[in-house]
Amino acid sequence: MRQRLGQHFLTSPHILDRIAAAACGEHTGTVVEIGPGKGALTEYLLKRADRVLAIEIDPEMIGVLAARFPAEPKLTILQGDALDQDFQPWQPNVICGNLPYYAATAILVRAVRTGVRTIGLIQKEVADRITAKPGSREYGFLTCDIALFADARLLFNVKPGAFRPPPQVDSAVIALEPNTRAATLGIPVEPFQKFLSECFQHKRKTLRNNLSGAYPREDLADLPLASKRAEQCSLEDLAALFRALTIGKE
Ligand code: SAM
Repeated sequence: MRQRLGQHFLTSPHILDRIAAAACGEHTGTVVEIGPGKGALTEYLLKRADRVLAIEIDPEMIGVLAARFPAEPKLTILQGDALDQDFQPWQPNVICGNLPYYAATAILVRAVRTGVRTIGLIQKEVADRITAKPGSREYGFLTCDIALFADARLLFNVKPGAFRPPPQVDSAVIALEPNTRAATLGIPVEPFQKFLSECFQHKRKTLRNNLSGAYPREDLADLPLASKRAEQCSLEDLAALFRALTIGKE
């Protein structure tokens, strides 16, 4: 159960305080915490927030949390799967968590769609993919999918020794600040996400090759951008290509 739920508990006061500070600054209103576990980060968030809503899947941890914070009026503990929750009704100022690594990507993809600032401690390898720049090896579909909704920044790295038990990989804290790119690109979001997944399907192939199953070859032949690989293109380039292939063609 433990391994499957990604239970690596933070024990470093310094790291816990840095994450809480990144999430709340000096003070904030409502924090949604994902995966509170035994409450190590919760304690630091409570010092800086008016209200913490903590969503935890493991009933055993719910018991530990209830015993640790028996009469804390600022804390609401919810048992459930963060992947099934709608965070918006709680109107959080920030979503935060030392995320279970098996579900970190799915949780972040959900969180950015709420338009709420998100601070997550995740595997370093995933953090590098989310914050990658065009032209780098890590740049791909996940980078673009997140960038449609949020500007991603790597805040700091965390070594395995900061956790009990230590994970086998390095970790990092990232900040996702909501942006308006999905709206300003002026294109329908869901079809564009599907297009992005096609663009990055085979990273070594040109866009023309990756897209030839979905768009007419003669249209692709007319577009110089299509001779590049997706990993060489900014999100704006890919949006321009999408527009050229779809606007007025439906
Ligand atoms: N926040 C604690 C800490 O830093 O010590 C625990 C972090 S631990 C990496 C991840 C926590 O998320 C575990 O307590 C685990 O049970 C919980 N968890 C795993 N999957 C979850 C899910 N789908 N929804 C909510 N919580 C989940």
